[in-house]
Amino acid sequence: IPAYASLLRIGSPENIAGECKKALALGYGAIKLHETTTPAVFAAREVIGPGIPLMVDMNCPLTGEQAIAFAKACEDAQPMFLEEPVWPPEDFTALADVRRKGGLGVAAGENACTEYQFRQMMNAGAVSHAQPSVTKVGGVTEFLKVAALADQLGVKIVPHSPYFGPGLLATLHLLATRDDGLVEMFYLKREACLWGGRADVDATGHVAVPSGPGLGYEPDRGVMERYRVA
Ligand SMILES: [Mg+2]
Repeated sequence: IPAYASLLRIGSPENIAGECKKALALGYGAIKLHETTTPAVFAAREVIGPGIPLMVDMNCPLTGEQAIAFAKACEDAQPMFLEEPVWPPEDFTALADVRRKGGLGVAAGENACTEYQFRQMMNAGAVSHAQPSVTKVGGVTEFLKVAALADQLGVKIVPHSPYFGPGLLATLHLLATRDDGLVEMFYLKREACLWGGRADVDATGHVAVPSGPGLGYEPDRGVMERYRVA
């Protein structure tokens, strides 16, 4: 599954550019920032060039009006979408307004529960990209319902999956059922891995889908023991 590097909040445009460069060198073919300023967005675009998809996760800081202005100010950097630009995140009317007037894609849904809430979101025209999180939406079955609905309504699915455990493995399997898969990988160096380093991005920017029974890998009991909370 093609992966995108989901960067932590960094702040300084210079350091953002440095991390984007490193992520591309590691093989990633797409980048998501967690930033809220235009210099941050433009610093990333400048260093990755025009061909690499760039996403901007804002984590809900703005009013609708502010988000529209931010989208317009970012337009030349061509982000694929702004993620959760407004507070509260369930204000689908405001999100739809941002999408319509801001001129960019809008993504949301990492905390949305069940197909019911995604239906409200999509019917409102709030998102170009829906982001069900398999650990929160209601599991594998509910995720599949959201994906079917999105396909029906012409909304793209870009799951929320900055996880290290079963949620990441389940997301890989779910994306393997689709042809537009792009898996979110938390961009950091883990001290240990539950899956023996197998749920990682390779040099071509892909993550392998586990092929064993169930979710596909047995967790490393040594790692679980070592990090047990007393
Ligand atoms: Mg997010």
